[in-house]
Amino acid sequence: MKLIAQKEAADFVKTGAKEFRQNSEIRLTPGAKDVFTEAGVKVVFDAGAAAIATGSAGSAPVAAPAPYSAADIALFASKEATTIKEQICDIGRRIWAREYCDGNGGNISARLGPDRFICTPTGVSKGFMTPDMMCMVDGKGKQLGGTWKRSSEITTHMAIFHSTPEAVSVCHAHPVHAGAFAIKGMQPPPRLIPELEVFVGTVAYTPYKTPGSPEIAAEIFPLAPKHQSILMGNHGVICWGKSVEDAYFKMEITDAYCRTVILAQSIPGSASIPCDKLPELLNIKKSLGLPDDRYDLKPAGLCEVDPWVQMCGSHGCSSPVTPWNPMTNDAPSSNAEIEALVQKLTDEIVANLKK
Ligand SMILES: [Zn+2]
Repeated sequence: MKLIAQKEAADFVKTGAKEFRQNSEIRLTPGAKDVFTEAGVKVVFDAGAAAIATGSAGSAPVAAPAPYSAADIALFASKEATTIKEQICDIGRRIWAREYCDGNGGNISARLGPDRFICTPTGVSKGFMTPDMMCMVDGKGKQLGGTWKRSSEITTHMAIFHSTPEAVSVCHAHPVHAGAFAIKGMQPPPRLIPELEVFVGTVAYTPYKTPGSPEIAAEIFPLAPKHQSILMGNHGVICWGKSVEDAYFKMEITDAYCRTVILAQSIPGSASIPCDKLPELLNIKKSLGLPDDRYDLKPAGLCEVDPWVQMCGSHGCSSPVTPWNPMTNDAPSSNAEIEALVQKLTDEIVANLKK
């Protein structure tokens, strides 16, 4: 039996939910009933669920687990949690505005305290979230706060939080340019733009596994300590950072890089950052305290593959592109010209046959 007292009812009201469902395992104190009546929260009996609320936006009914502990409710309503919720909503808007997420795609999370994390709910556009939609989970992904159901991909985020103590926030989205590399199963070639080398490093790649599955978590776990940006094959990109905005920056830098590389491959040329200049960039990176799996490599090991050969094969991407231009095309235009051309070709064929 779980007793919901006045304070817990008041905390529930703060989430903005308009409906509180109870079953035989849940009882409300008279004070809690008053709080709900005053706030216009409807209390309904539902034997099938421990507690289900309808979010303030009124669209998706969302399931919450059994009422949370008083300590978790207080933590979830704390100033620190509120700040993180607002930051996540802000980054959600930026992800959506830059077309990094489609439909309900993408999810963001951040550490709140020991074994407590704030994360985005499932089934909502990341561009239109409000703080009351956020969820709180423990390190196993179990929901401990919020009335919207937490993202199904939170276990992938947990793989990063558990293997990488310095990861404060994780950002996952489906940006199209980095996504283009992800669906081809190709890591973006290195040594083309200093921004990526210093602030992101080698973008890792892991083959396709079902989103949110234990298999993808197992793939991400060992990669995260040395890679802040990881392509998930035929899916999207997951990045971590030392703040919510920092995790998003990794996403932005990764996608801008991939976009530039995709555009550049059609332009003749094969320039790249010289191998002997790469250690200087890595030194800058080291001084910023950023992880990289290349710190121990000698210059030769840093430049094993030419980036354009990695991108386009042994000939590189330097073959010139000659777009067809109808204004300068010298194709025959009149019937008489076509007749003359056909006659000329026929004569040549006949002459060849006679040889
Ligand atoms: Zn996804």
